Amino acid sequence: MHRRSLLKYMSMCSAGAAFSLSYPSLEAAIASQGENEWGYGQEDGPQLWGELSPDFSVCQMGQQQSPIDLRGAIATELAEPEITYREIPLKILNNGHTIQVNTEWGNRLILDGQDFELLQFHFHHPSEHMRESQIYAMELHFVHRNAKGEFAVLGVLLQEGKENETLQSIWDVIPTEAGEEQTIDKVKINIAQLLPAQRTTYRYFGSLTTPPCSELVYWVIFEQPIEISKQQVEQFAQIFPWNARPIQSLNRRFLLKSL
Ligand SMILES: [Zn+2]
Repeated sequence: MHRRSLLKYMSMCSAGAAFSLSYPSLEAAIASQGENEWGYGQEDGPQLWGELSPDFSVCQMGQQQSPIDLRGAIATELAEPEITYREIPLKILNNGHTIQVNTEWGNRLILDGQDFELLQFHFHHPSEHMRESQIYAMELHFVHRNAKGEFAVLGVLLQEGKENETLQSIWDVIPTEAGEEQTIDKVKINIAQLLPAQRTTYRYFGSLTTPPCSELVYWVIFEQPIEISKQQVEQFAQIFPWNARPIQSLNRRFLLKSL
């Protein structure tokens, strides 16, 4: 009996250890939200992030910041990202900065031989990246992390057009007020349906686009946008009228584009 409970305790510890290895720095990175208030307004907006907390200084001092204007890319042969996304139950929250969908273990991205795990996806209005100096209605970010604590973010630009059915199943239950994660049992999301058919991508090395703006991100942005209706954009805009960081300088980085 004693031995059995010890074994049970040990297996819980090892599960806990595996979990804590993969998640805390993401929590720290993305959840510094609560402690240091930041936003997109006049008093807490992107131009002030670097001064709001010493933890955010890279927002101001960094030389590899995101987003950028996707232009002047060097066209080159790049291995296509291998994306294996599954159907997931909808776990959604409004974290006060965006609408975020948390994903379960098992949605993978292999990028240049490195294995990344999808943690969550979320939305910006309007788009953060520009393409050839053009801004889009919205942008979707799929946030992945590898064992070294680096991030790979797949970005999808959203342009006004047809209603997007997959997004609509999220929009139908969108939390209008900030709060805890809710699981919507009856809704399943086929994440792969939120990716464009055409797989040409832009690649560059950059940062999180929200505080602490850590320069740990392999950015992969699809050239082809997906469509969202005007009404869907307006519904999101009622909750988040503006949650996009302005364009940052490329500085001494290269922007690549797959052939
Ligand atoms: Zn984002």
